[in-house]
Amino acid sequence: MSCENKENIDTQTEVAKVNLMGMSQGRLVAFFESLGEKKFRATQMLKWIHQLGVTDFQQMSNISKLLRNKLDEVAEIRAPEVMGQWDSTDGTRKFLINISGGNAVEAVFIPEGDRGTLCVSSQVGCSLDCSFCATGKQGFNRDLTSDEIIGQVWIAAKSFGQLQEVPVRGVRRVTNVVLMGMGEPLLNFDNVVEAMHLMMNDNAYGISKRRVTLSTSGLVPALDRLGKYTDACLAISLHAPNDALRNELVPINKKYPIAQLLASAKRYIEGLPDSHRKITIEYTLIDHVNDRPEHAQELAQLLIDVPVKINLIPFNPFSLSNYKRVSNNALRRFQQILIDAGYTTTIRTTRGDDIDAACGQLAGQVNDRTKRSQRYKLDQQAFLDAQNDEIPVRIVN
Ligand code: SAH
Ligand code: SF4
Repeated sequence: MSCENKENIDTQTEVAKVNLMGMSQGRLVAFFESLGEKKFRATQMLKWIHQLGVTDFQQMSNISKLLRNKLDEVAEIRAPEVMGQWDSTDGTRKFLINISGGNAVEAVFIPEGDRGTLCVSSQVGCSLDCSFCATGKQGFNRDLTSDEIIGQVWIAAKSFGQLQEVPVRGVRRVTNVVLMGMGEPLLNFDNVVEAMHLMMNDNAYGISKRRVTLSTSGLVPALDRLGKYTDACLAISLHAPNDALRNELVPINKKYPIAQLLASAKRYIEGLPDSHRKITIEYTLIDHVNDRPEHAQELAQLLIDVPVKINLIPFNPFSLSNYKRVSNNALRRFQQILIDAGYTTTIRTTRGDDIDAACGQLAGQVNDRTKRSQRYKLDQQAFLDAQNDEIPVRIVN
């Protein structure tokens, strides 16, 4: 065998390095034990990565030179690459994050007083295809890894100078995380749960369980398992007070109807050790679809036995949708009916509108494997063509 051939084989058989970015404490312990090291190395590593933002093993001063060299051989700490970053006039910052295979996802940071909420994506696209959601229209490519999910938190915190010995005491800081970006988190259960553990681990980001929220459109079997693995906050994307309407807006409802979903959510929240926790009900208000007073009354009745607070989200239009934003009058009327019925009811103000970072506008770039995006583009074209037919042709002499 010639030297040239041997070299080729060596390069081809080089083992991929294991990425420590998204490893929970438990997995890091197992990793270090496999190297013949003690458990406490896991804690050291978590602090270097998630509190000090260090990705170079050689800079880890409390780790021996021998182990640092070993780590260089077998491991790496790699956050996903930021392809673009936009700042809105209201302080919102959007990150476009490169995901292999020609994909990209978005993460959005929203400042609010002394809090800062990072909205994190869990999948490239979404397979559930809710009729009012930009992500759904783009189809689906794949689940994000735990590296890619926690990597979004790492990227944002690092960009605000949070990950260093003496963190920058700026106005913008990640204090809360919501899994409300692209994708359905419960369809990517293991990776999402692992990333949530890192968010809440005191050796990593140390965010309180009351400041990490998983939002789901209602995968009941996965929701039933969730309580065994986390005690984070739960948001349910309801959007309709009855099954007939919800079937249209959130197709997964046909499989797991409202009664099953609310029962499962209730079991989750009541199973948490601390009482008085509430489920957040998200209700996107769409003009003339689900915004009538009767809908509000029906919703108030539906939730009577469930510990909830309600968050109303005015629908954010996007180019592939024919729905319209709720009118301000209908929005206020809807809120008032719920308040009068005794529910804490807030309205989510639209943020980052000027950089397309508002709820449901997150689109990233999905190398669609479902061909759904293609179908929508064709439908949309047909819609536009039909519209054009109706426009009277003005003959200019
Ligand atoms: N898949 C999960 C989490 C991501 S969606 C879920 O559905 O809960 C996050 C939130 O944004 C959901 O409540 C969703 O209903 C809402 N949303 C989606 N599209 C929207 C739009 N165009 N305008 C306003 N809210 C939207
Ligand atoms: Fe998926 Fe949530 Fe969008 Fe529905 S609303 S398509 S579940 S991301």
